Amino acid sequence: MSDILKSSISELKEKLDSKQVKPSELAEAYLGQINKLNSDINAYISVNESLMDEAKALDSKQEKGELSGKLAGIPLGIKDLLCVKGQRNTAGSKILENFVAPYTSTVSQKLLDEGALVLGKCNLDEFAMGSSNETSYYGKVKNPWNYEYVPGGSSGGSAAAVAAGMAAATIGTDTGGSVRQPASFCGIVGVKPTYGRVSRYGIVAFASSLDQAGPMTRTVKDAALMSEVISGHDPYDQTTAQEAVPEWSKSLKQDLKGLKIGLPKEYFTDAITEDTKKVVDNAIEIVKKRGAEVIEVSLPLVKHAVPVYYLVATSEASSNLSRYDGVRYGYRSDFSKKPAESLEEFYSRTRGEGFGSEVKRRIILGTYCLSSGYYDAYYKKACQVRRLIRDEFMQAFNSCDVMLSPVTTSPAFKAGERINDPVQMYSNDIFTTSTNLAGLPGMSVPGGFSQEGLPIGIQLTAAHFQEQKMFDVAYSIEQELQLKEVPNVL
Ligand code: GLN
Repeated sequence: MSDILKSSISELKEKLDSKQVKPSELAEAYLGQINKLNSDINAYISVNESLMDEAKALDSKQEKGELSGKLAGIPLGIKDLLCVKGQRNTAGSKILENFVAPYTSTVSQKLLDEGALVLGKCNLDEFAMGSSNETSYYGKVKNPWNYEYVPGGSSGGSAAAVAAGMAAATIGTDTGGSVRQPASFCGIVGVKPTYGRVSRYGIVAFASSLDQAGPMTRTVKDAALMSEVISGHDPYDQTTAQEAVPEWSKSLKQDLKGLKIGLPKEYFTDAITEDTKKVVDNAIEIVKKRGAEVIEVSLPLVKHAVPVYYLVATSEASSNLSRYDGVRYGYRSDFSKKPAESLEEFYSRTRGEGFGSEVKRRIILGTYCLSSGYYDAYYKKACQVRRLIRDEFMQAFNSCDVMLSPVTTSPAFKAGERINDPVQMYSNDIFTTSTNLAGLPGMSVPGGFSQEGLPIGIQLTAAHFQEQKMFDVAYSIEQELQLKEVPNVL
């Protein structure tokens, strides 16, 4: 069974197509691993109770040779931010503890339409706010490579689930790095598509102009496949692009001849640890060996990306989270013993009890940025600098096709190390937030390990809608490295 748990989606599909394994056997294997490890790793907030019935229904389809769909019979985990009808959708928050989704998000529906099985909903930082998966109301997630370390965040549960064989692949969301950074920390592949590729319908909103859902997988090919399944225009989300969705997984190339790879010089600073530097340098050698031309590019404004991101993201969050008022749905404080004396008290007691401290910090910061008298100095200014950062990237993409950089300055940090210092925590997002501010596609592909045996990812960024080039570079790095290490729990 451990063989199954280490398999990619492509390998599992072969096993299903040749009837070596039944969908219910796959589901059972992953469920077994979840039951064995979840009390330690805490990657799932809830498990789909009808999983085995759904899997058995697919068994009979398989028998009749009717198992069709790009993900037919593949057991996946979904970040607990994307609604799946009839299942709880907590966003990692107490305020949505008992919220059962009345409809299915477009991303989840697209996965289901291709025959995927949903194992359950993955743990995350509360409302996707965090970089370590320590802010979830449902407890911390541990890094499967070493339980003392964080798995990254906010899609830490989705990343840990794949790394520990608790799902064949998962879906995360990335507002400022939340797919790429945990993918890097957990040694898997994670993709943040171009803004507008993937529908946000049915996904709990954090910062709407930055949020994109993306796949977290064992291989680049799986990531390309999942990306093509979840992408596309959606009439329910008018920010989705009309752009055609290529079959990326079928066009992967390892030969990088003719491709120019840009190294943004501002990303190669002294802040990067020796181990990270070595891993990134090695990836640069690989892309050269595969025929790409490597050049230096400059993005002088990315030094402002973290403050700009934390102004834009918190402003949007303060607006998006105003809907959790205890009136329409979600948690409501118990007013039976001490009734609220004003509407304001009704809201503040409910929200004070329902939200955790990181979420409150951001609501306060965002409300302040948007308030009259400060709007021009903070929110408006941040939007202007955001535009300049985007222009700067577009300019740089005139001279290169894909940018290669570290995902973070160091591999995973220890649990507890940064949680009481928000500024230190936020600065972890230094290399990832600019991608979202500019709306670009980005990904993390495993590049190697630190001396302590912790995974280190390589970040690749492409111009808008140029995912194919990014996948090709990732594929060539993956194929050259042939990394086979897995965490001990597998
Ligand atoms: N770490 C960033 C934050 O805390 C990014 C989160 C995300 O991408 N959802 O906001």
